[in-house]
Amino acid sequence: MAHQNKRVAVVGAGIAGAACAHHLTRSGCTVTLFDKARGASGRLSTRRTDMAQYDHGAQYFTAQSDAFIAQVNDWHQRGVVAQWQPRMANPDSQQWFVGSPDMPAIVRDLVKNIDLHVNTRIERIEQSQPELGAAVINASQQALTAAVTNPFTWQLTTDKGEVFADFTDVVIAVPPAQAVPLIQPVASSMVSLLNSIEMLPCWTVMISTTDSVTTALPIEAERVVDHPTLAWWARNDSKPGRVQHEGQADWVIQATADWTLTHLGTDPADVIRLLCDAFWRHVGVQTLPQVQQSMAHRWLYSRRHLEPQSTRLSLWAENLRLGVCGDGLIHSRVESAYSSGIHMAETVLGEN
Ligand SMILES: Cc1cc2nc3c(=O)[nH]c(=O)nc-3n(C[C@H](O)[C@H](O)[C@H](O)COP(=O)(O)OP(=O)(O)OC[C@H]3O[C@@H](n4cnc5c(N)ncnc54)[C@H](O)[C@@H]3O)c2cc1C
Repeated sequence: MAHQNKRVAVVGAGIAGAACAHHLTRSGCTVTLFDKARGASGRLSTRRTDMAQYDHGAQYFTAQSDAFIAQVNDWHQRGVVAQWQPRMANPDSQQWFVGSPDMPAIVRDLVKNIDLHVNTRIERIEQSQPELGAAVINASQQALTAAVTNPFTWQLTTDKGEVFADFTDVVIAVPPAQAVPLIQPVASSMVSLLNSIEMLPCWTVMISTTDSVTTALPIEAERVVDHPTLAWWARNDSKPGRVQHEGQADWVIQATADWTLTHLGTDPADVIRLLCDAFWRHVGVQTLPQVQQSMAHRWLYSRRHLEPQSTRLSLWAENLRLGVCGDGLIHSRVESAYSSGIHMAETVLGEN
């Protein structure tokens, strides 16, 4: 294949990194994907307990570009995504999709044939000269060609001191603030742009109730407008493919960015109490519901603060063969992150 000499390291297995790694692999590159978390998914994540499951990051996604529509259609045919039509006071005219049986399903599908290293936090990336020397006699034609066309290779070091070496290209697919410490020592010219991108935090609460009032609420999801505390809530078990328990409702409640910013250091137990109080009042529940389980998650980088000035989908330093992609560069949506990852892969392949 045309790109078999490329050995690409992709840092970050959210939808952007996964889409990039998938496209590069299909084009013949050898790809190694790293994520610091226990699994691939990033902000497309689902929390599971014995009692319930909650999509506590991205809630659903839409598809507008031809490329993403084709991808979603393929997922739909194979049961990787399903349409979600919650009962809402003001329903959206767009089709909403969710991963099935959980949000990470789409990322799992993209990375299923890729060399993925989870629980692997990359702490440093460095250039190193290829070691040909005496080994030149035994070096394969492929290695020699790579050495001539690339004057250096990349090596990645984890927080545990493990080293992964001999990459021709590196893609960083993590939120801007997490990309900066990796990029700064090797490509300082990219840093000012990354530093200018502000990502907003979001406190998210997950609860399950079993009382007759909350489980009978007629509305299943709402993007809350002009509320000091609440930005969004949804009944997670109304999504297709989710585990359902008779007489139980599983809720995901998201705070506004302003509320989260003023409660960044608040104890999770207090966050749960405050967000639940606001939620019950908002949906008109008067009596205290029977909450069987409650958890909170604080997203530090949930979405971009301002719309981007440029329409650049990914960043690339050709002289270094180093790139950055992810939703932070454009819009904080699943489709945008996917498009950024695909654009990054096409750039690595020299197609843009
Ligand atoms: C609460 C919330 C609600 C949202 N709701 C929606 C919605 O309804 N619809 C929608 O379209 N979008 C929504 N979004 C946005 C959407 O989730 C993101 O735009 C998208 O998932 C971003 O994907 P990404 O691959 O760019 O980044 P991420 O998903 O953040 O992936 C980055 C990955 O990099 C890993 N990583 C970071 N640093 C390192 C390191 N040093 N070494 C190794 N790995 C590292 C992380 O563990 C992570 O897995 C929401 C986001 C949040 C948080």
